[in-house]
Amino acid sequence: MAAPKRFFAPDIREEMTLSAQESRHAKNVLRLSEGDEVTLFDGSGKEYSAVVTHVGKEGIGVHVVRENISDREPKTWVFLLIGALKGDKTELVVQKATELGVSRIGVFSSRYCAAYMNEKKLERLNRVACEAAKQCLRASVPRVEYYKTLEDALRAGSECDTKLFACEFITETESDIIDTGATVCAVVGSEGGFTGEEYALAQRLGYCGVSLGRRILRAETAAIALLSVIMHEAGELG
Ligand code: SAH
Repeated sequence: MAAPKRFFAPDIREEMTLSAQESRHAKNVLRLSEGDEVTLFDGSGKEYSAVVTHVGKEGIGVHVVRENISDREPKTWVFLLIGALKGDKTELVVQKATELGVSRIGVFSSRYCAAYMNEKKLERLNRVACEAAKQCLRASVPRVEYYKTLEDALRAGSECDTKLFACEFITETESDIIDTGATVCAVVGSEGGFTGEEYALAQRLGYCGVSLGRRILRAETAAIALLSVIMHEAGELG
């Protein structure tokens, strides 16, 4: 039997109606009917089994049966900081990072960054994170935030046990990614890359330069590659 369909609901109560958007999807696309079992999650890590009690114009009514423990969260808490990318590339990175298990995402502007951010784009990125969490069966949704400067972004990750700065112009990685500790911050630049001053700033703030090899990767490739290595070392892949 297919797993119950998953729905996001920010405020889960025993008897409730799904949001207009989730109800539309449940009704028109998934064609749910009374008695169907569904899973609800609120993004905080909690997950609930529920049963559809009502399919009406005003939305889908559900009755929550029990709370389940989600075991899909990584033990290592990973914070991705990524330069704002052009087109829909930032969305791609948010989607893949969520699938790979990151806990928080920061998008920043830096010297050679050509893309801009606004409230609408940020809202969209948070929706992408929510959709990705839903699809990959995560009960936690990483929050996406915007930092106006690289320095603000780097300071937001300063408490992490391991701080990695993917730098395209260094030839040797300064830190072992193995044994990262409980919290990791991973920084990847935008299409334009970083300046020497930005790298020096990151070093001053305790970040270690990481090389991802002799080829220059696109920012989105670099982010996915670095996160894959971190998650692998954290024992999360396989
Ligand atoms: N415009 C730059 C490339 C930027 S690549 C140039 O022409 O040199 C975008 C980002 O991906 C970089 O800032 C870095 O964070 C990451 N990246 C790409 N290739 C990398 C590599 N070989 N090692 C480390 N980081 C890399």
